[in-house]
Amino acid sequence: MRVQRFTVGIFSVNTWLLTDEATGASAIVDTGEDSSLRERILAMDPVPDVQMILLTHSHIDHAGALTMLQERWSVPTILPRLDRPLFATLPMQGSMFGMPHLNRPIGRIDREIDDGETVQLGETTLRFISTPGHTPGQGCYYDDEHIFVGDTLFAGSIGRTDFPMSDPALMVDSLRRLTKLPGHLVVHSGHGPDTTLAEELGTNPFLGYIRRERGITGPGGMRWAPGT
Ligand SMILES: [Zn+2]
Repeated sequence: MRVQRFTVGIFSVNTWLLTDEATGASAIVDTGEDSSLRERILAMDPVPDVQMILLTHSHIDHAGALTMLQERWSVPTILPRLDRPLFATLPMQGSMFGMPHLNRPIGRIDREIDDGETVQLGETTLRFISTPGHTPGQGCYYDDEHIFVGDTLFAGSIGRTDFPMSDPALMVDSLRRLTKLPGHLVVHSGHGPDTTLAEELGTNPFLGYIRRERGITGPGGMRWAPGT
C-alpha cells in the first residue's frame, strides 16, 4: 500500500491518501477543515481513483471538510460507530473552538464501523481498532505495515482528553490495547511526524504505566490519569 501525507488547514492536520498498488484504488483518511485536501488531490496527475473516505474521528479538523470532498467524490464514507454523537455536533464545532466561520453542514456517513471489522481497499485489507478516549469513538485503521491513529497517539505524546466527550479512563485502556499491536507498525498520527508503536512504547512519557505493567525498560513517564 502506498501512503501519501497531506498536512492541511489551520490546525495542520495530517490527512492521508492510501493507494492499493495492485488495483490503483485509493482511500482518503480524514479531511481537514477546508478545501486544501480536495485541491491538492485534484492537482495530482493522474488524479487518484478515490473509492472511499475513512474518518478516524469527528473533530472539525479531521472531518470538517467532508462535504467538500463528497461534492467531488461521492464515495462510501466510513465513521467509527461510537463517534456518531460527536459527528452530530460538527455543524457547531467551529463555535465550540471559537471559530464560528468554520461551522459547516454535516457530510454523509454510509457505514459505521466497529472494533475488529475490516475495510477492503482493492486487494488491501484494512483492520479497524476502536481506541476511544480522545473522542467517544476515535479509532485506527491498519494493515501489516501502517497504522492511521488520528489523535490517539503522537510521537512523544497522546491526544487530549480534556475536550467535551473525551474520557481519560477510556484513553488509558485504549493505549494498552493499541500498544499490543505489532511494534513495527508505522504510526501515522493526526498531527506531527510519523513514529512506530515500538518507539512510542519504549519512550513516550504518557506510556510509562504500560512499560511498568509489562516490565519494559524505559523512562518512568508521567501520571496523566488515574491508573497511569
Ligand atoms: Zn481530535
